[in-house]
Amino acid sequence: MTEVMDKVQTMQQLINGQWVDSASGRTLAVENPANGQVIANVPASDGEDVDRAVQAAATAFQTWQHTTPQDRSLLMLKLADAIEARGEEIGRLESRNAGKPVGAAIDEVPVVADNLRFFAGAGRVMEGKAANEYMAGHTSIIRREPIGVVASIAPWNYPIMMAGWKIGPALMAGNTVVLKPSARTPLTALVLGEIASEIFPPGVLNVITGSGATVGDPLVAHPKVGMISLTGDTDTGKHIAKVAADRMKRLHLELGGKAPVIVFDDADAAAVIENLKVFSYWNAGQDCTAPCRVITGPKVYDNFVADLAAAVSTIKWGDPAEGDDIEMGSLIAGAQADKVEGMVDRARSGAEIVAGGHRPSRPGAYFEPTVIAGPDQRSEVVQDEVFGPVVTVQRFTDEDQAIAWANDVRFGLAASVWTGDIGKAMRVAKAIQFGTVWVNDHFTLVSEMPHGGFKESGWGKDQSMYAIEDYTVVKHVMLKI
Ligand code: NAD
Repeated sequence: MTEVMDKVQTMQQLINGQWVDSASGRTLAVENPANGQVIANVPASDGEDVDRAVQAAATAFQTWQHTTPQDRSLLMLKLADAIEARGEEIGRLESRNAGKPVGAAIDEVPVVADNLRFFAGAGRVMEGKAANEYMAGHTSIIRREPIGVVASIAPWNYPIMMAGWKIGPALMAGNTVVLKPSARTPLTALVLGEIASEIFPPGVLNVITGSGATVGDPLVAHPKVGMISLTGDTDTGKHIAKVAADRMKRLHLELGGKAPVIVFDDADAAAVIENLKVFSYWNAGQDCTAPCRVITGPKVYDNFVADLAAAVSTIKWGDPAEGDDIEMGSLIAGAQADKVEGMVDRARSGAEIVAGGHRPSRPGAYFEPTVIAGPDQRSEVVQDEVFGPVVTVQRFTDEDQAIAWANDVRFGLAASVWTGDIGKAMRVAKAIQFGTVWVNDHFTLVSEMPHGGFKESGWGKDQSMYAIEDYTVVKHVMLKI
């Protein structure tokens, strides 16, 4: 089932350790966005499938919650090894399903394995307050309990990586999971399910496919789902939060971003440009932390714009199947390319397009690597998530304005500060409202450190001990002694 596909294949989904079609028998076509061709059909599930998957997860939870952290850890380490062993196959499949360069897609797999290994260890060393006699004659202890069935809803931009980030902490905390990948990119999540089904007991991890409307909505509303973990669009997060509120379900929301890159006049501008040339256009800019909103000092602005435009114009983009030297692949779908084109076109009146700016006329969902100089702070292209290969550059007058502009968006996921002055770097890092702040760098994340947003970028953290804590609930047990 999981060999790299040369022809259209029909795949099944994982419920209670079994590979099954959707209850209705309907299927959903999955495309390669780099050429628009259908590469697979997967189950088009609905409420009936959701109910079967949630019931399976709820039954499995009765046993799974009583396994020891060591038991769970040993299985999680096996999962990490097995995924890594199939890294090339998974990466190639991901490349075909998401339009990303093959090398970049293959490189994501060891990152997933590392994350799973981190949580395999983290689940064994969770901490709480000391047990003590806070009232005479009574001993208090803190327990961290699993929540139950977690609905893990993943996006299309890093399908296998986001699936991994979700299941590691959820399962290690003692929960069971129903994983719903994006309808656009379900293929590597199904491979993950296949690997996991050979390691974990039936029902501990279920993977079901279908759209947000037919699978996502009934999954979020299902009475036996105790927590929803979504990585996705901020509007999807708001919708889910409203549905979850009815039953006070726990939420973990990793949502949109609009990362500022504050470049002071004393920064190493060449280093910034080198970083942006790679990471602003990584995954065709479809990254919630992408350095997409450059705010530069008044002295460096002119040279910076010219040098960045020149660097970006050399990015080799195209269908990843054309060769290993393709640096930027396609966007996820024609609809996404339409969205990017619309935002760039609307930006033209108040700013200058100094690199790219066009949607090439060829099959597949492409947009040129683009740089827009001088947009207004209140303009749509500065305020809203483009989620495409587009960088804006603005000129600030002083540090206060740089901070004010950086904060003046509804998102708060990630940011960077570039300067040779360590005091200024620390001042600005404190003043800006983002979950991750890099100094003289932008993009790299590690499993040990938290990733998650302020403001409309969401609630809760991925990665780190904070993530596993998010998948538990604290209980106070008081003993009369
Ligand atoms: P999306 O919100 O369209 O979809 C995400 C998932 O939610 C998909 O599986 C989708 O089917 C599901 N969904 C959609 N409607 C639903 C509903 N009504 N009920 C339940 N589930 C529903 O997001 P996307 O377009 O796949 O991903 C891009 C977005 O994800 C961007 O905004 C990006 O910034 C964000 N993102 C954030 C992070 C982070 O860590 N903060 C990481 C990656 C992506």
